[in-house]
Amino acid sequence: MLWLLIFPLTWLSTVFAQNNPAFIENVYSTFLYPLISGALPFQYLPYFSFFEIILGVGSIVVLGALVLFSVRLFRGKGGRVWRVLKTLQKVFIVCGVCYFLFYFLWGYNYYRHPYSVIAGLPEALSTKEELYALCVDLVGKANDARGALSSHEEGTPADQPSVADLQEKTRLAYTKAKHDKIAGISGVTGFAKPIAISRLVSYTGITGIYFPYTGEANFNNDVPVLDKGAVLCHEMAHRQGFAREDEANFIAFVVCANSDDAYLRYSGYFLAVTHAMSQLYRVDAEAYHEVYSRYSPEIIADINANRAYWRMFEGDVARTFTQINDTYLKTHNLSDGVQSYGRMVDLMLAQRRILSAKTDIVAVYSASRGLFCLTTSGFLV
Ligand SMILES: [Zn+2]
Repeated sequence: MLWLLIFPLTWLSTVFAQNNPAFIENVYSTFLYPLISGALPFQYLPYFSFFEIILGVGSIVVLGALVLFSVRLFRGKGGRVWRVLKTLQKVFIVCGVCYFLFYFLWGYNYYRHPYSVIAGLPEALSTKEELYALCVDLVGKANDARGALSSHEEGTPADQPSVADLQEKTRLAYTKAKHDKIAGISGVTGFAKPIAISRLVSYTGITGIYFPYTGEANFNNDVPVLDKGAVLCHEMAHRQGFAREDEANFIAFVVCANSDDAYLRYSGYFLAVTHAMSQLYRVDAEAYHEVYSRYSPEIIADINANRAYWRMFEGDVARTFTQINDTYLKTHNLSDGVQSYGRMVDLMLAQRRILSAKTDIVAVYSASRGLFCLTTSGFLV
């Protein structure tokens, strides 16, 4: 009977977590979580994802249990109402255990301090002019990063890194980020895993999934090559204990842009410029078109290739999954749902504000975690 309490007790713990971010930051995210996530064995096998196996086997088990329940309902002994209640009790306990494990293994990270606090990036409202200046800087950096890559005749990047290449590039990027003391980065354990049914997953619009039960960062291996580097770094940011989408995007950008690898740098800038430019379009379409004209022809070709890829998968399935994702985010302390992806731009603006105010300073210090960044040649805009 005590098992019946697991669901309400876990829910109570999330209410406590929401109201005590400092406790979650100090006790869970930076102490317990690294121990828990490091101990999960599934992440250390690079070739396939246990997430997919669990999902497949889990679906069969649920279907089997439903059939078994229906048969017993009509053929078993005792009152039907009693049998329904007994089954509901079992379902409640199983859901309670899954709910508890979700938070214990990773989910409490939703309630830690915002990354702006951890990295010492003060949040403030930004003007349209600041957003415009950020976009101009980012387009310039993206053009430079794209210029360092070779191209096919049609303009898209010639190099398609293999899965092993991608895993190694992103592992090195996170190792460097840790070495450079980028706030909150503790280095990498385990591998980001390619999803075997990636093409099917593209119909849902999903580019990657972090699965807390196995500690696996999974990525869609079918998406355009220029997206993949940032996608891997985004999922690995979740593995580092940053649950919020906008923060994982910002960390992916910082880690990619700080990397020694030309392909990753471009992937990171492509992610950053896409987000910043969509915000600029929202507030000032004329300024957006002016900045858009600064893109190099190679980037325009990449943008067109990217749009053509995703156009193949537009439809009801993608819309449904966007709706599901929106609901999921709303249940995790992110009241504005998918719109919270826009807050990545606020972090970039805060970062730019700090650096442009201190142009002669090569190191920016985080209030809580030491150095945030250490470069003059610059990935920071
Ligand atoms: Zn994510």
